[in-house]
Amino acid sequence: RAKGDGRGLFRFFESEMDARMQARRALEVDLRRATEQHEFELYYQPQFNLGTGSVTGFEALLRWRHPDRGLVSPAEFIPLAEETGLILPIGEWVLAKACAEAAKWPSTVTVAVNLSPVQFRSAHVLRAVVSALSDSGLPAHRLELEITESVLLMETESTLALLNQLHILGVRISMDDFGTGYSSLGYLQKFRFDKIKIDREFIKGICEDEKSLAIIKAVTGLSASMGIATTAEGVETQAQLSRVKAEGCTEVQGFLTGRPMAARDAMALLQAPSRVMQTDAA
Ligand code: C2E
Ligand code: MG
Ligand code: MG
Ligand code: MG
Repeated sequence: RAKGDGRGLFRFFESEMDARMQARRALEVDLRRATEQHEFELYYQPQFNLGTGSVTGFEALLRWRHPDRGLVSPAEFIPLAEETGLILPIGEWVLAKACAEAAKWPSTVTVAVNLSPVQFRSAHVLRAVVSALSDSGLPAHRLELEITESVLLMETESTLALLNQLHILGVRISMDDFGTGYSSLGYLQKFRFDKIKIDREFIKGICEDEKSLAIIKAVTGLSASMGIATTAEGVETQAQLSRVKAEGCTEVQGFLTGRPMAARDAMALLQAPSRVMQTDAA
């Protein structure tokens, strides 16, 4: 192969990389402005108890209302927010906003907030949680913090100490996206989670694929024996709903029972005469 080809290819990659770097820098500038000018919103997705059918809480999900691009999904900007450290002020805002909103809800209804591993590495998350609770007046037990296995991946004394301090404060700790990380079982031994959220990946296959079903049976069995609640994430069909209920999941959160919605719609749902689970099929 001629040398010229290689150089051409190299130049191609070089300009490709340039373009990517530029896009990344542009996004970073955008994200800084968004943080300063509060272009973020929280959407709330309902969670239902599978035994009673009533709303138990909402997960707060971050949205960026971009002046030109409209509503941007967190998958698009959270990685960069983490790299740049912007996730710290953004995460603080999320905690404050979610707690303030939840303080208006009936006293049985909880709010779940996602924490990034980066927030978890900085001691300031504890302070942020304490101020969000005291500023809003929300009782600690109505706040759930969702962490993923990646938080515990580089588990150190300080990570466990932080989890224990949060636990002592009275907030609930959920393990999000359970099963998609590394050695999930080891983490269950080290820290007493209040809830396990079974990742959508396993729910997707629950009706067709024996392996997914076997994994869900194992997780619900394990959780039940440890006294940990389980949420089935990403339930989209009536068949999946029946199945996760039969397998003994405690809660459900998915497009079938409710999409993420604006705060006022969450409030309307809570004020409806019966706050029970509605599905498209019903
Ligand atoms: P997650 O914490 O696992 O949140 C659940 C995601 O699944 C949400 O996506 C939700 O809209 C989506 N979902 C719920 N039910 C269904 C369903 O039935 N089908 C399908 N296909 N999807 C469903 P979203 O809002 O795009 O958030 C994606 C991820 O971004 C979240 O995953 C979470 O890891 C992260 N994230 C969201 N908000 C925050 C935040 O405030 N802080 C941090 N650090 N991360 C956040
Ligand atoms: Mg979550
Ligand atoms: Mg999840
Ligand atoms: Mg996820």
